[in-house]
Amino acid sequence: MTGTIVFTGKNDYNKCMKIIDTIKSDRVTLSFEVFPPKTSDKFEDVLRAAGEIAALKPSYISVTYGAGGGRGRFTAELAQKIHLDSGVPVLAHLTCVSSTREDVASALCEYRERGLNNVLALRGDIPEDGKIEHDYRYASELVEEIRQSGDFCIGGACYPEGHIECEHKADDIAHLKTKVDAGCDFLTTQMFFDNNIFYNFLYRAKDAGIQVPIIPGIMPITTARQLSRAVAMSGTNVPERFRAIVDKFGPDPKAMRQAGIVYASEQIIDLVANGVRHIHVYSMNKPKVAKAILDNLSYIITL
Ligand code: FAD
Repeated sequence: MTGTIVFTGKNDYNKCMKIIDTIKSDRVTLSFEVFPPKTSDKFEDVLRAAGEIAALKPSYISVTYGAGGGRGRFTAELAQKIHLDSGVPVLAHLTCVSSTREDVASALCEYRERGLNNVLALRGDIPEDGKIEHDYRYASELVEEIRQSGDFCIGGACYPEGHIECEHKADDIAHLKTKVDAGCDFLTTQMFFDNNIFYNFLYRAKDAGIQVPIIPGIMPITTARQLSRAVAMSGTNVPERFRAIVDKFGPDPKAMRQAGIVYASEQIIDLVANGVRHIHVYSMNKPKVAKAILDNLSYIITL
């Protein structure tokens, strides 16, 4: 762990490759996601898991910000270490709903200083206690600010089934178009368990004039509890076929893990077969799950 660092924003060393350039390739590529620890005593464990995931040579690794309620205390440090240790490009998330403009300016300064030039710009979930700052209402405002503040490659989040707070899908897509126009280079979707929902979303996004790459996000579900949590948070539809799998194998941890990995692998195979060239996997600090998926796809995706 590093001690206190004063970030001046003047240092450009060790910048990593921009995500938009890594996903332009004609070959099929895959990226993984990790989340930072809440406390410093877990930092080394998370770094080790992230290092094992990086050793699989994904096209990039994304590092979440404050997921689970905490602030993004370790996002920048973890992202920088992954990049410096492995050379794998990183995408650092940043949320704004619980931040002031000064907080965001200082986070961006730190990202720049650490060579982190890829940012996934998010509003963030409204905390349960409802306590938010009032400088930002929507991610589009953050995107616009990052775009003005320098040479970042900017990603945004999108929701093939509509964001849980937005009543009408058409409004959600219109808001998404505003966000893209504010300066997103690419979008990553929330998890989905039915690929037809993603294909349908691609048509609707195109119809709305959204032209940036849209990367599908696939979540390997390895426990029944993980599925209930994911559905409660996102409202994602669980197709009957997958529900039957979780009902049958949920009580048996090893069988559920295997079935969840196979289900996610099948989703990826179908995406690739239908022309999708980049896939993001919510690997959740689980190198064995990430590796098992790659093993299932060894002739389909070569990293
Ligand atoms: P926005 O794009 O601002 O949308 C939020 C809501 O506001 C939507 O309902 C939208 O339709 C509506 N809206 C937008 N603009 C307008 C407007 N002009 N007028 C009216 N309504 C509008 N959370 C974390 O805390 N940390 C993370 O690291 C993280 N990573 C994520 C990664 C991905 C790929 C995804 C899909 C989500 C991630 N999240 C993360 C969750 C995300 O923060 C929540 O889903 C949050 O509720 C919405 O964030 P957003 O950036 O999509 O918000």
